[in-house]
Amino acid sequence: MKKFLAALSGLVLATCVAQAAETLTMATEATFPPYEFLRGPEIVGIDVELSRAVAQKLGKEFRAENMDFDSVIPAVISGKADLAASGITVTEDRKKNVDFSEPYVKTGIVVIYKKSNPFTGKDQLKGKKIGVQGGTTSDAYVKEELKQEPERFKTPPEACAAMLAGRCAFVIADVDPARNCVKGEAALAISDFLSSEEYAIAIAKGQPELLAAVNETIAEAKADGRLARWIVDYTAESDRLKDGGSAVVEPTPESVGRSGLAAWLDEKWTALREDFYLCFLKKAADGSSRGMYLVNGLSITLQVALASIVFGLVLGFLVAVIRSSHDKYGYFTVLNALCKIYLTIIRGTPMVVQLLITYYIILRSVESKVLIAILAFGINSGAYQAEIMRAGIVSIDPGQMEAGRALGLSYWRTMIRIILPQAIRNVLPALGNEFIVLMKDTSIVGYIALIDLAKGGDIIRSQTYSVYLPYLTVAAVYLILVMTMTWLLGLLERYLRNTGANPVHNDS
Ligand code: GLN
Repeated sequence: MKKFLAALSGLVLATCVAQAAETLTMATEATFPPYEFLRGPEIVGIDVELSRAVAQKLGKEFRAENMDFDSVIPAVISGKADLAASGITVTEDRKKNVDFSEPYVKTGIVVIYKKSNPFTGKDQLKGKKIGVQGGTTSDAYVKEELKQEPERFKTPPEACAAMLAGRCAFVIADVDPARNCVKGEAALAISDFLSSEEYAIAIAKGQPELLAAVNETIAEAKADGRLARWIVDYTAESDRLKDGGSAVVEPTPESVGRSGLAAWLDEKWTALREDFYLCFLKKAADGSSRGMYLVNGLSITLQVALASIVFGLVLGFLVAVIRSSHDKYGYFTVLNALCKIYLTIIRGTPMVVQLLITYYIILRSVESKVLIAILAFGINSGAYQAEIMRAGIVSIDPGQMEAGRALGLSYWRTMIRIILPQAIRNVLPALGNEFIVLMKDTSIVGYIALIDLAKGGDIIRSQTYSVYLPYLTVAAVYLILVMTMTWLLGLLERYLRNTGANPVHNDS
């Protein structure tokens, strides 16, 4: 079995490494139209076309990875991606960590403001709450030029939604995504440039061949007009995607002045229906609706949660048996010490950090993010399940083991056939609790750019600016999942109570 597992994992790793060599991976943050944005599940945009052209030049397959902007440069540094193209501004600080291609666009940052709070000049920004996308040059502008801390959000649309909700006074962002943000938003406008910048593609240091290929591709795309065409086409497409406008409408004097409960309810009902259509049903250019983010996300959440529960159960069972056998009979000294180290490390560090370490360091060359998530969550949950099961095993009268052995059963057989069923029955409520926590904890997989249920809701929110429906729907789906799980566990508990798993019950 061990040999088989070792061979299997070797094969998986070898396949992943081989795949990595033939594939050019682009790291990006796909809420930055027209450079990168989502068309249904597909990442498209100017940067994607440029990077795909680099892959073609090198004769490689192409893959784009969506992640938070502040992970894009670390992804190339750590080797998770070959190049980062995400509307990245060339800055002196970044040059210390990565190599930049020749610039391919001249651009700059602007202020997005509410027309009800017009922006008149830089001085007005001082001391105000300014929303920015974390880790960007806008973030640096607020810190260095205005000498204050910005309100950091994951994407520019998120910062705009926060401004519309009154959480910050202004937003600073790059001009193109800013234009897209205000497109169709009657309440928003953008200012002139605050500073000018240039975008380039970033790659890990010390790769002259890749850098040359990227530079040649940029030069060719500029010379033969492809770059100009991509800019026009993707600006038009991202504008079209945005034309639904935001569901967040600033109250106007007229709407506030209108009286009568019926009129108010009517207005809310219409807004809700429009919002529902925009968030879940409206078809994008490729024919898919945003609701598919939730459907596909739910499938990922279920895969990760269920597989890691099972993996955690197996791991937890092994650790619990080793630990309790050691405590009772002095068996497995070395394994027991290893289990203790495992429990200490896993229970002593946050889940999100474990997930990131697994993704960026331990399973660096593994491509499947679902597999990475299952392993990280399974290993984490195994530690908690182990301690719960150990408590269950310890609670079983030693006479049960003695009786099993006296009947001629081996130690493991007695453990599996006699002790564990009773132990699990005793700790089922605690185990169920752990399953529920695990199911909800999987909502952090967005950190490794896996689009689960929570991240799906977040993407819908970032594209529509609508906060209520996406988040409340996601919450309702999690609630239904947890209630179903609680119900199933209740059934299992009843079943175990009525079967041989309870000798006391049988005797009576
Ligand atoms: N150009 C900005 C920067 O590099 C923002 C890029 C982005 O948000 N994708 O910081």
